[in-house]
Amino acid sequence: MKYAPARLDAVLVEVIYLLEAQAHLNTVQLVPQFDASASEVMCDENQLKQVFINVMKNAIEAMPNGGGLTIGLRPTDGAVEVSFRDTGQGIAEDQLKRIGSPFFTTKETGTGLGLLASKRILENHQGFMEITSQPGEGTTVTITIPLRLSTI
Ligand code: ADP
Ligand code: MG
Repeated sequence: MKYAPARLDAVLVEVIYLLEAQAHLNTVQLVPQFDASASEVMCDENQLKQVFINVMKNAIEAMPNGGGLTIGLRPTDGAVEVSFRDTGQGIAEDQLKRIGSPFFTTKETGTGLGLLASKRILENHQGFMEITSQPGEGTTVTITIPLRLSTI
């Protein structure tokens, strides 16, 4: 891991740009909602990009008939919170607790490794991920990343 200060709004803008074509093909609208006072976090920027790409791809794949993906960014106490709210099919309650365990996928060609890898990366940043979902209405993935890494 190579840690350096980075602004997450800039990182997210790059990821949004990377996924714009895939979103467009799926008639998914990407809607950034960034709090103006976003600060820098210590992070491995490429690793965090991987996390954001995984989460956003999952959201787009959950909206085969189109929809919206709102990408929020806001400061919290000592951390930054990034949220991805989609209007997709949602996740059934019994599946929600299995998500992120190795090889759990509901997709024909899925690997079930994307969120597992993402959780590992967030742990290395002393951050974490929470998923809430309303089946038939959508899913929100919230990621919290501390501004600084504590050494103890
Ligand atoms: P994969 O994408 O290869 O299936 P992931 O670890 O990325 O593996 O995701 C695991 C599972 O979690 C997916 O197969 C899907 O069932 C569920 N999932 C993840 N994100 C969402 C989402 N935004 N909406 C609905 N289901 C989701
Ligand atoms: Mg995935």
